[in-house]
Amino acid sequence: MRRDLTNLIDGRAQRPAAGRCLDVTDPATGQVFANCPDSDATDVDAAVAAAQRAAPGWAATAPEQRARHLNRLADLVERELDALAELESRDSGKPVKLARTLDIPRAVANLRFFAAAITQWAGESHATDDRTLNYTLRQPLGVVACISPWNLPLYLFTWKIAPALAAGNTVVAKPSEVTPCTAARLAELVVEAGLPPGVLNVVHGTGTGVGQALVEHPGVKAVSFTGSTRTGAAIAAAVAPKFRKLSLELGGKNPAIVFADAELSDADLDTIVRSGFANQGEICLCGSRLLVERPVYERFKARYLERVRGLSVGDPREEGSDLGALVSKAHYDKVVGCIERARAEGGTILCGGTPVRLEGRCADGWFVAPTVIEGLPGTAATNQEEIFGPVVSLIPFDGDDEAVAIANGTGYGLAASLWTSNLDRAHRVSAQLEFGLVWINCWLLRDLRTPFGGVKNSGVGREGGVEALRFFTEAKNVCLRLR
Ligand code: NAD
Repeated sequence: MRRDLTNLIDGRAQRPAAGRCLDVTDPATGQVFANCPDSDATDVDAAVAAAQRAAPGWAATAPEQRARHLNRLADLVERELDALAELESRDSGKPVKLARTLDIPRAVANLRFFAAAITQWAGESHATDDRTLNYTLRQPLGVVACISPWNLPLYLFTWKIAPALAAGNTVVAKPSEVTPCTAARLAELVVEAGLPPGVLNVVHGTGTGVGQALVEHPGVKAVSFTGSTRTGAAIAAAVAPKFRKLSLELGGKNPAIVFADAELSDADLDTIVRSGFANQGEICLCGSRLLVERPVYERFKARYLERVRGLSVGDPREEGSDLGALVSKAHYDKVVGCIERARAEGGTILCGGTPVRLEGRCADGWFVAPTVIEGLPGTAATNQEEIFGPVVSLIPFDGDDEAVAIANGTGYGLAASLWTSNLDRAHRVSAQLEFGLVWINCWLLRDLRTPFGGVKNSGVGREGGVEALRFFTEAKNVCLRLR
């Protein structure tokens, strides 16, 4: 039987006004298993109106009280961890073990982190002279829009709503229509946690049906968006004449750079492999360009390929599966098309390069073998455009300058990782890389206090820690002169 998802508007589960639904498909089986509301501008209007009604009361709630609400919600998400992990895996195709160890625990951490952060956020004041005092009020914006993608559904959904709510805003959130299930379940938990009606509203639907109406709505004061660069550009164009605060976390074409002096343990190799293929390569931070210094290129390639060939593509429900299914048929077609393009560009497929056909339950799923390509210059489309799948391109280089030139030589600038035993080189190269995040001898280690975001076509603005709280508040300076 299909699950029937609903919107959350004004604290109540609601069907879309027009009564239409979208199919939600399990990418591992190709079977439709849920109905997602195909909402439109009428539902967005209702959600924004509810959020506007709730805004003054929520803004006036003490930070400790808001933190209590978020912590209660975190407790409920934790209580449901296994069920949410299974749901996330079914909705997105990711291995359930990844959802259980990364996605859902991180959703809990996001809620708890911002619950704590808002109670610890110190104000600023400046005495200009002995009679003049300035202090800065950080006031909530009002109603904010949070729009999230399909690759880390609940993880990124909570990464936005947690700071927005902690800072005293009310929220209208739109999860991806491709993976709406865990956000719909979270909405039920929000009611159970006792969040006042209208403080968090969740409206499901397409980008054109809901997303566009939401970002253009006159009642929305800020838009926090994570998704593709193309959609980010459309939102930026729509929002610019309205002078709204805008945070854009977009695509990437991230390099992992291996210098000849890197002393790579087996665990390091595993991390480098993971950095390309975790979540089927569908993480914005995955390294899809693997730059290797020429003296160690062949030796590294042999060790690397041995590991990649050992990855198992399988039923996401099986604990032994390292890679599950790609999120949708459309995305699968895109990734397979990118591999064909790499062949046409003259690339050599060192491993993978083909769809994977599984038996039984997953016979109709959308699986692709982890694929490693070599022989393409940094300027090839394969090395320039985001693929967002289990595809890594090996690129040899000579020396720091060439590594930096190739790494910086795309339109994107989200994340880079570099592997070296030379501390001077590590710091020098980090400073030269045009990326918002750089990892040295590691990947995906995240301290939630640190700024997160990209440069160039990877976005504008920063999330994380006080950056997020700053985004979701307006600074007002009050200047007082003693008589
Ligand atoms: P997408 O841009 O297609 O969709 C993202 C969200 O925007 C969805 O909820 C979608 O319905 C909505 N949307 C689509 N058109 C819209 C419009 N005109 N107005 C408002 N909303 C609209 O992205 P996706 O395919 O869901 O996600 C994959 C992309 O997200 C990749 O490019 C990936 O790199 C990027 N991503 C970036 C980060 C980051 O932190 N930088 C994190 C995860 C994913």
